[in-house]
Amino acid sequence: LFLTFEGIDGSGKSSQCRLLADHLRGLGREVVLTREPGGSAGAEEIRSLVLEGDPDRWSAETEILLFTAARRDHLERTILPALAAGKVVICDRFADSTRMYQGLSRGDLRATVDSLHKLMIGREPDVTILIDMDPETGLARAKGRQGTEERFEDFGLALQEKMRAGFLSLADEFADRFRIVDGAQDMDAVAADIARIAEAELDQ
Ligand code: C5P
Repeated sequence: LFLTFEGIDGSGKSSQCRLLADHLRGLGREVVLTREPGGSAGAEEIRSLVLEGDPDRWSAETEILLFTAARRDHLERTILPALAAGKVVICDRFADSTRMYQGLSRGDLRATVDSLHKLMIGREPDVTILIDMDPETGLARAKGRQGTEERFEDFGLALQEKMRAGFLSLADEFADRFRIVDGAQDMDAVAADIARIAEAELDQ
């Protein structure tokens, strides 16, 4: 099972990924917990190139190429081998984040993102959990977090609003694999919703 998490900054994706991995391991499943950008040695190097340093270093188009290159490496080296070995792969962000961030935040580049995805990735997750969350709460949470590479989080409220709406319309577009979870609940309730979704998928 290939399961991804999406949502705006501060929606609690990373914590929920860990909680779900622990939960499924407790049920005896082999789980690979990974993230994007990154998730393989080469992709982690690309992550540093993109997320650290001068935010204007790359054009929007080059950034799409870098994210796609990172994803291709991650898919080849980490995701596909784990799936072939029968493991559950839980990934913190995947191509949907590129459809949103690179596709929407610096102009309308969604068609470019989609073309490259088709050419170089071609794989969608089996299930995508969208943790939906009010941007003001998300931004406050993201800002309260320590971190050196969080340059994207300076995007501000207007962009977070746009991203939230974008993720919700993406959930419509890919309704077969998206499940929306209410991120405003307390962490345990969010985790319980997500565990139910994952278990239902694994039982199929
Ligand atoms: O998942 P996480 O919030 O740790 O991602 C790090 C940052 O990279 C986020 O602030 C997110 O906005 C940004 N990002 C991006 N494009 C992606 C994936 C993440 O701009 N495709």
